[in-house]
Amino acid sequence: MTITPIEQLFTIFNETAQILQEEMDSSFLEALAETGENIFQGSILQEELSELTVKRLKKQYESIQLSQFSKEEIRKAFQLVTLKGMKENIQPNHQMTPDSVGMLAAYLVDKFMKERSFRLLDPAVGTGNLLMTVLNHLQRDVLGIGVDVDDLLIKLAYVNANLQEQPVQLFNQDSLEPLFIDPVDAVIADLPVGYYPNDVRAADYQLKADKGHSYAHHLFIEQSVRHTKPGGYLFFVIPNGLFESEQAAALHEFIKENMLIQGLLQLPANMFKNKQAAKSILVLQKQGEGIKAPKQALLVNLPSLTNRHEMDKMMVKMDQWFKENKG
Ligand code: SAM
Repeated sequence: MTITPIEQLFTIFNETAQILQEEMDSSFLEALAETGENIFQGSILQEELSELTVKRLKKQYESIQLSQFSKEEIRKAFQLVTLKGMKENIQPNHQMTPDSVGMLAAYLVDKFMKERSFRLLDPAVGTGNLLMTVLNHLQRDVLGIGVDVDDLLIKLAYVNANLQEQPVQLFNQDSLEPLFIDPVDAVIADLPVGYYPNDVRAADYQLKADKGHSYAHHLFIEQSVRHTKPGGYLFFVIPNGLFESEQAAALHEFIKENMLIQGLLQLPANMFKNKQAAKSILVLQKQGEGIKAPKQALLVNLPSLTNRHEMDKMMVKMDQWFKENKG
């Protein structure tokens, strides 16, 4: 049986991370970040490893050459091994954006963005899986900028970007604090959903709650708009109930004042554990001079992505919308 390039890489990432995990007495994900950095740098960076461990690692590292793998093979292998680590040690904010969502987001960014070269911000970059999926599919000169409050996840994003040789700037901070990032052409984010505990910081936002904690996902939308150029596009993975909460009226108002709704694509229900967990992709455009609303927003209820026939039909419909509205 032949093994695929993704399996081959997965095995190297997995086995070398396990070796380092034991030696460093760390979590698997920390060890994964370390082994990824070793592979990228072409040397073993951890000091105080036993001679035998160094030998075992070297043997594994020497069995592959990163340049023989495509960026997507590297991303997919890294994604699988990261998922394995997340399952072993479950933490509520450790969620990676699945491939299917990433691919669709990449399609949308590719269709909406006309520039050959642009800057793309992900203020909830996590492991970087979503951002890398988009960058790998664009085949253009795009600078990625990622922010995340979680230091382990951002370390994985850093390794991910390095291994795939994607130009990405990363900031390890709370995205709702001031960001020292010049306005970008586009934003992409799988929004963290829930309450934002810092009421003092939330007070700086129009979308703060009148009483109690504000919704982090609302504040993320406002912060993203602040950092987008007029006419820039914003692509958000959102919970389906976004516009149904008790704070939705303020969000509606904010969107009406500052943005144009370009599209809302509901992801197929079978991609999620239950109805409450189901998500959509919301596409917004920041208002600006000469920016016109589409005749009609792209409103799509996606069929199961494995249903080839229905999916093909939907792609034709979407392509038609782009021809009529963005041609
Ligand atoms: N797209 C990411 C990926 O592919 O790995 C996953 C995004 S996950 C759904 C949401 C992310 O938001 C988490 O990585 C979490 O650490 C981050 N996050 C939550 N609150 C944050 C905050 N206030 N500032 C920055 N990042 C935050």
